[in-house]
Amino acid sequence: MVKEEDAGEGSLRVLIVEDDEEAAELLESLFKRQGYRVVGRASSGEEALEKYREHRPDIVTMDIMMPAMDGRECARRILEEDDKANIVVVSVLGREELQPLSSLGVKAFVKKPFEVEELFSTLAKTARPPRRSVATSPGSLFIDILRHDALNPLGLIKNFADMLLDDAPDSMRQEIEAIRRNADRVIELIEDASTLAKLNELTDFEVVKVDVSALVGKALVELGSEIKRKGIIVDNRLEDRLFLEAGTMVENAFHQLLSNAVKYSPEGGRIVISAEQDGHGLLLSIADSGPGVKEEYRKAIFERLERVKKRGVRGTGLGLAIVKRVVELHKGRVWVEDNPGGGSVFKVWLPRRRLER
Ligand code: ADP
Repeated sequence: MVKEEDAGEGSLRVLIVEDDEEAAELLESLFKRQGYRVVGRASSGEEALEKYREHRPDIVTMDIMMPAMDGRECARRILEEDDKANIVVVSVLGREELQPLSSLGVKAFVKKPFEVEELFSTLAKTARPPRRSVATSPGSLFIDILRHDALNPLGLIKNFADMLLDDAPDSMRQEIEAIRRNADRVIELIEDASTLAKLNELTDFEVVKVDVSALVGKALVELGSEIKRKGIIVDNRLEDRLFLEAGTMVENAFHQLLSNAVKYSPEGGRIVISAEQDGHGLLLSIADSGPGVKEEYRKAIFERLERVKKRGVRGTGLGLAIVKRVVELHKGRVWVEDNPGGGSVFKVWLPRRRLER
């Protein structure tokens, strides 16, 4: 039952549209903790429309995969009646799959499972227009089922563990942190497996003008807290506005390589990012001061699940397979060399224009 009097008069009023009872419960608790006022919960598109008309909330969080009228149709109907409606989609589907919704007027997308901070920072800036993106293939049924039916409960485990951690006595913290960490591992595995499966199915994709320095900058911001925690020095030597004609999935490859450089760097390590251009393409180099990759593993690490055993380093073993597939789709090349100062240098060469096949 939703009690409206929980938050002050001036607080933002939220309608939660979510067909999973526990996910709705979690959202409601999170909103209340943050001082929002939850005016209603709806578990179907039809109910959401009714409650929207009744309450005219300031924000609607919209699940997509619901039986009968799904979130897409519901968002469309609400926006038809009120073009100022502030709808934020919260779904396991990625922003690129829901791209048509932004042209309808949906303000923002939050991917499940979400980080609590990410949810609220997105809500705080819903006035900003969403980024342009391109559609990718829908992925196999198995992957879709995994993403919808496994990611949801896993996200709940993680978010509830977070809530428990807030008030947990010291004697229980370790166990709760282990629950959270392991939920995170499976989430990462499903995300990576789903990305790789989609990339493997992909034969054609839209080519857009991609700003490599902007994508690298974005990945560095996303990895910022880990870079800071480990005291890593990043020397980003990329000039502004390095353009390529490529698919938007190159962002994923850059993120993965930078994330590995951070993951395998020791505390106080150094990462140097540089690029060279020739008439045909762009060579991006990411040098780290980590353990390096032995000669005999330099090919194998780009294959699926080939991990060189590293104690204390978490990973799915799919990251470099994703990078390799993205690069292959662009008819580029990726490899690893020794960093003369210790560590490794991962190099990606991508053609400036996508070559005709
Ligand atoms: P994961 O890191 O999840 O194991 P990846 O596919 O990203 O999976 O990497 C595969 C393997 O390549 C890693 O297990 C690690 O042994 C090696 N590797 C990747 N990046 C680096 C790096 N920057 N420095 C040293 N080794 C690396």
